[in-house]
Amino acid sequence: MAYISLLSYKILVLSWITAQRQLIHDKTVSRTQWDKSYDFIVVGAGAAGAVVANKLSECQSVRVLLLEAGGAQSAIYNDIPGMVSKIYTDNVNKWKYYNEPHDNYGQQYAGGRVPDQRGKTLGGSTAHNTMYYNRGNRRDFDEWANTYGAVGWSYRDVLPVFREWENNTDPVIVANNPDYHGTHPEDQVNIVDAVRMQFYLLEVTDMAKYIQPLPSFADIGCPVCPGKYMYECSEGLKCYIRFNSLSSYHPAGSCRMGAIERPDVVVDPQLRVKGANNLRVCDASVFPVIPNANTAAAAITVGYKCAQIIKDYYHLND
Ligand SMILES: Cc1cc2nc3c(=O)[nH]c(=O)nc-3n(C[C@H](O)[C@H](O)[C@H](O)COP(=O)(O)OP(=O)(O)OC[C@H]3O[C@@H](n4cnc5c(N)ncnc54)[C@H](O)[C@@H]3O)c2cc1C
Repeated sequence: MAYISLLSYKILVLSWITAQRQLIHDKTVSRTQWDKSYDFIVVGAGAAGAVVANKLSECQSVRVLLLEAGGAQSAIYNDIPGMVSKIYTDNVNKWKYYNEPHDNYGQQYAGGRVPDQRGKTLGGSTAHNTMYYNRGNRRDFDEWANTYGAVGWSYRDVLPVFREWENNTDPVIVANNPDYHGTHPEDQVNIVDAVRMQFYLLEVTDMAKYIQPLPSFADIGCPVCPGKYMYECSEGLKCYIRFNSLSSYHPAGSCRMGAIERPDVVVDPQLRVKGANNLRVCDASVFPVIPNANTAAAAITVGYKCAQIIKDYYHLND
C-alpha cells in the first residue's frame, strides 16, 4: 500500500513538472512583439544556434533575434529520456529527411534512402537525441586544423572551450582528470575489423549461448563462406556493412570550414562564408570531417566558439 502511494506521489510530481515544462516551452514561442531591427540574427535554435544566441545575448548592448522554424518542444516527448524511441517513430517536431542512396550504405532501406530525421523545435536535434556524450578525440580536431587549415580548431584550441562550457563541477571527475575532465579513446579502427570483432564475440565466445543465433548473410542477400564462421568471411562482412550502415542521425560537414583558398571549403576558420559579408555558419555542418564521436558536443563547441569569435570581432567583451 505504501509502495502504491509512493508511486502515485512520484507520478503526480512528474506530471506536475512535465506540465510546468510544457508551459515554459509554450510561453517561449508565443511571443508576438518584435523589435524593428537587430544586431545579430541567429537562424536555428539547435545545439549550436541556441548557444550562439545565448552567449551573444549576454552583451547588454546588442539585440539578438533567434529564429526557429519549429515550435515549442513537447515536454512529454523531449524531456523524458525514455521517450526517445517514440520520437524515432512518431512525427513529433521533426524534419523528415532521407539520405541520398549510395552503394556503400543503407541497402536495407527502400531505394537505399536511409531515414535521417532532424529535430525541428527549440533545441533542434538535441531535443530528440539519445544523450550519448563524447567530445571526439585529439586526432579529430588536429585533422581539422592540420589537414583542412581550420586554424584555431586543433585539439589544443578546442579543449579549453569544451572545459569552459561543460563547466564540470563534479569534484571526483575533476580531481581524477584535471586536464580533460574525461578521457577519450584515441584508437582508429577499420570498420570491417570492428564488425568482425562483433561477430566473433557473438559467434564463438560464451556470449553466443545467450543470444538468438545470428541471421545468415544469405538472408540479406550477402555472400556466405561455406565452412567458415561469419566473422571469418570478409566478403559477407563487407556486404553486411553496406546493408546495415547508416549515419545514425549524425550527418555533418556539408559546409566545410578550412583554409579559405581550398576549393572544398565554404567557411573560413572564423566561420565566415566565402564571398559573403556578415554571414557566418556555426553548426555541425562546418565540421571539416566528422569526429569519431557523437556530434552534439562538437556542435555545441562550434556554437560557443562562434560566439567568442563574434564577440572578439566586434569588441563586445570590452
Ligand atoms: C534522433 C537523433 C539522435 C541523436 N543522438 C545523439 C546522441 O546521443 N549524442 C550526440 O552527441 N548527438 C546525437 N545526435 C546528433 C546531435 O543532436 C546533432 O549533431 C546536433 O544537434 C547538431 O547540432 P546543429 O546545431 O548543427 O543542428 P540541430 O541541433 O539539428 O539544430 C538545427 C536547428 O535549426 C532549425 N532550422 C533549420 N532550418 C531552419 C530555417 N530555415 N529557419 C529557422 N530554423 C531552422 C531546425 O529546426 C533546428 O532546430 C542525434 C541526432 C538525432 C536527430
